Amino acid sequence: MSSNSFRVEHRYLDLPDSFYSRVQPSPLKGARMVCFNHELAREMGFHADHPEEWTGVGAGTELLEGMDPVAMKYTGHQFGMYNPDLGDGRGLLLWETLGPDGRRWDWHLKGAGMTPYSRFGDGRAVLRSTIREYLCSEAMHALGIPTTRALFMVSAKDPVRRESIETAAALVRVAGSHIRFGHFEFAAHHEGEAALRTLIEHVIALHFPHLIGLPQDERYLRWFEEVVERTARLIADWQAVGFCHGVMNSDNMSIIGDTFDYGPYAFLDDFDAGYICNHTDQGGRYAYNRQPQIGFTNCQYLAHALLPVMTEDDVRQALQRYEKAYNSHFLQKMRDKLGLALEDSGDLGLVMDTFSMLHEHHVDYTRFFRGLSGLTSKGTAPVRDLFVDRSVADEWLERYRNRLKLETRADDEREWAMRKVNPKYILRNYLAQQVIVEAQNGDYEPMKELLKVLQKPFDEQPDYEKYADLPPDWGKHLNISCSS
Ligand code: AMP
Ligand code: MG
Ligand code: MG
Repeated sequence: MSSNSFRVEHRYLDLPDSFYSRVQPSPLKGARMVCFNHELAREMGFHADHPEEWTGVGAGTELLEGMDPVAMKYTGHQFGMYNPDLGDGRGLLLWETLGPDGRRWDWHLKGAGMTPYSRFGDGRAVLRSTIREYLCSEAMHALGIPTTRALFMVSAKDPVRRESIETAAALVRVAGSHIRFGHFEFAAHHEGEAALRTLIEHVIALHFPHLIGLPQDERYLRWFEEVVERTARLIADWQAVGFCHGVMNSDNMSIIGDTFDYGPYAFLDDFDAGYICNHTDQGGRYAYNRQPQIGFTNCQYLAHALLPVMTEDDVRQALQRYEKAYNSHFLQKMRDKLGLALEDSGDLGLVMDTFSMLHEHHVDYTRFFRGLSGLTSKGTAPVRDLFVDRSVADEWLERYRNRLKLETRADDEREWAMRKVNPKYILRNYLAQQVIVEAQNGDYEPMKELLKVLQKPFDEQPDYEKYADLPPDWGKHLNISCSS
C-alpha cells in the first residue's frame, strides 16, 4: 500500500477557504478491518493484497502521502427548515483520486471524529449504522441505481453513546463527488455571487465536462437542467424498486444524482404507499409516496440558491424538466418490471391500479414482481400465494394477460428480461438487523454472506433462498432510529 499507486488530484481544495476546514482524524482504538471491497478497489485502479494494511487509514491513525483531510462546509433544508450550521460533522474528505478510466473518486472517511461543524455531535459513527450503509450502498449499486459506494470499513473499541452505549466504526465511502445541493445553498446565502459561480464552474469542470465551452448563460441552464433530470430519474429508480430514503434533506442530495446518506432507509416489504421509515419523521414528510414531490422541492431549494446567477426564466425552465423526466423514467421502469416492451396508452393506468391493489391487499412488493417474472416456468402460485384473497390476484392476472397479448416477444424471452430488472434479493431491514446483531457479538461472517447475496440481486442463488423469504412478523416495520 503506497500513495504511488494513485493519481491524486485533490481539487476540492481549489475552492475558496470558506468551503472547508482542515481537520486531522481523531484516532479510534483497537481498530480492525471488517470488510474490504476488492472489486471496487479494482474499478478505482488499485488492489489490496493485505486489506489489514488499510486499517490505520480507517482508524484515523495513518494518512497516505497526499491525503489532506478536510471537513466540507455546507448548509441545507432539514425537514423544510433552513439550517445554516451544517457541514461534515463526522466525516472528512481525504483526497480525490483518478481511476485508470479517468473517473474521479472522492474518498470520505465517515466517523473520523469531531470537526468545526459537529455542533452537538461526537463525530463518530456506530457499528450498526456503518454496516447498514455498507450493505445498502453496495446493494443499490448492484441494483443499477446511482449511489455512493463503500470501499472499506473498520470496527473499533471506543464506546459511543446513542440510545444505549454502542461501539464505534468508520467507513471509507467513495463517490464521484460529495458535493451536495446544500453546498450551493451555503455559497448563495452566505458567501455571495463570486463564490457561487466558482462552485458551479468547479462542478461543471469535474462532473459535466461536456458543457465546458458553452456560453455562460447556456452553460448554467444546461447544467441545472441536467441536475434536475438526474434527480428526477434517481427518485424514479427508488420508487420502482421500493426504496425509502428517510432523510431527504437538501444536504443529503448529491449534485451528481447519487443516492447519498444511508440513515433510516428501508425497502418496502408489504407495499404501503404511505410508508414512513424514519420514526422521527412524524408528519411523514419523507414517506415513500412523497419522495417524488420532495425531490422536486429539493430542486426548488437549489433553484433558489441559483437565482443570483441565473434568470428566473432559466431557473423555471430547468425545474420544468423534473416532472417529465420523472414520469417518463418511472413509466419506463415499471413497463420493464411488467415485461411490457411495447407502449400502450393504458400502461400508466395499469401501473397505478397495480400499486393500489398491492397497497390494499398488503402484498410483498419485491416478491410480486419476481413472481410475475416466472409465470410460464413456475406458474401463478408464487404470485397468487401473496394474496389472502386469491380472486383478487386472478382478476389482476387476467387483465395482465390481456395486456400481454399486445406483446410480440416470446414468453420466456420476456420473463428472462424481467428477471434482470425484478430483484429476487433486497436488503430487508430485518436481514440487516440480524447480521448487525451477529457483528456486535464479533462475528462478521453473516454480514459478508448477506453482502455477497446482495451483490447479485437478480440471480437465483439456491443456497441462499432464505434471504428472499418474506420477513417474519418481528421483522416487519422495524423502528429504525435516525441516530447513527
Ligand atoms: P444527517 O442527518 O446524517 O444528514 O446529518 C445531518 C448533519 O449532522 C450533518 O451535517 C452531519 O455531519 C451531522 N452529524 C450527524 N451525526 C453526527 C455526529 N455523530 N457527530 C457530529 N455530527 C454529526
Ligand atoms: Mg447527511
Ligand atoms: Mg446521515
